[in-house]
Amino acid sequence: MAKNINKISLPNKIKPSAVTYFNEIKKGNTTILAKAITLIESLNAAHQEIAQDLIELCLPLSGNSIRIGITGVPGVGKSTFIEALGSHLTDDNGNKVAVLAIDPSSKKSSGSILGDKTRMNKLSVNKNAFVRPSPSSGTLGGVAKATRETIILCEAAGFDVILIETVGVGQSEIEVKSMVDFFLLLMLAGAGDELQGIKRGITEIADALIINKADGENLTSAKIAAQEYKNALHLFPANTNNWIPTTATCSAINNTGIAEVWQIIESFKNLTKLNGTFDSERKKQAKYWLEHAINYNLKELFYNNTEIKAKIETIENEVQEGKLSPFKAAKQLLTIFKN
Ligand code: GDP
Repeated sequence: MAKNINKISLPNKIKPSAVTYFNEIKKGNTTILAKAITLIESLNAAHQEIAQDLIELCLPLSGNSIRIGITGVPGVGKSTFIEALGSHLTDDNGNKVAVLAIDPSSKKSSGSILGDKTRMNKLSVNKNAFVRPSPSSGTLGGVAKATRETIILCEAAGFDVILIETVGVGQSEIEVKSMVDFFLLLMLAGAGDELQGIKRGITEIADALIINKADGENLTSAKIAAQEYKNALHLFPANTNNWIPTTATCSAINNTGIAEVWQIIESFKNLTKLNGTFDSERKKQAKYWLEHAINYNLKELFYNNTEIKAKIETIENEVQEGKLSPFKAAKQLLTIFKN
């Protein structure tokens, strides 16, 4: 009898190791935070159990930050900019800054955005900053899920500015957009718009277009480009949050315009907190992530089901050979799964 009660209460019981992690994270222990993120990123079932318990513990302490997405083509100056903005926030504003990355293509190669920590020399050793490279493997969905969960842990550890970096090359922006309050696109004056993502609609989801490298010979062209974008932005319909996307210039390397970029973000925060869209957006995002998690888990359950595993290849072949329609095949597989 006692055994049964134990069995029933077990799923709701928080793992003791999760509590140990939580107590250290609450104190702002970044070594333990880093270890906990490794659990989140792990595919090992036992690690995942601890990670999920830990997220549940951290959730009530999360949410008190501004989450900022930063994107732009490789070479635009994202790491230099993050280093400059992060240092400004920690040194001049007293913030605690966490830097995360979404880069599913990252294999810790030269293309990896945060794989090489030395790119953020100052922030990496700043005691009020936490720099976490993107997981080196995994699907975009998996990496995005891990990043979203990592945000919760970082907030529980007291980080009040979360910067999420992504390369400006497609789907990862949409994922980042769904987990941040403010989305910033870094650009260069004179580089082709297409190359920078204008045609792919990134500008439509950006809250600010910042022209970086506004220094030396580039200064004038950067200012002209900023004005041109400003004019172009008027052609877009107003956002539901009443925020008009802003343009500005900066030089990440010279530290000019960085404080102004932060002021833009502060204005955005003030406006959207006041009109309620800051919170309503976060609620929408939470719903999106619930759906995302359901889809993700259902897929995992489906493809890991022993019956499905045994039959899927034959059915796939039949579909490819035209013997079975994809729709009928899917129905057949789902019937097998449900039974
Ligand atoms: P990322 O690939 O977008 O992360 O770009 P990086 O931050 O690695 O910068 C790419 C190159 O541009 C590096 O050589 C930087 O030193 C340089 N860079 C970054 N910001 C600026 C800037 O504001 N002005 C100038 N002149 N160069 C910059």
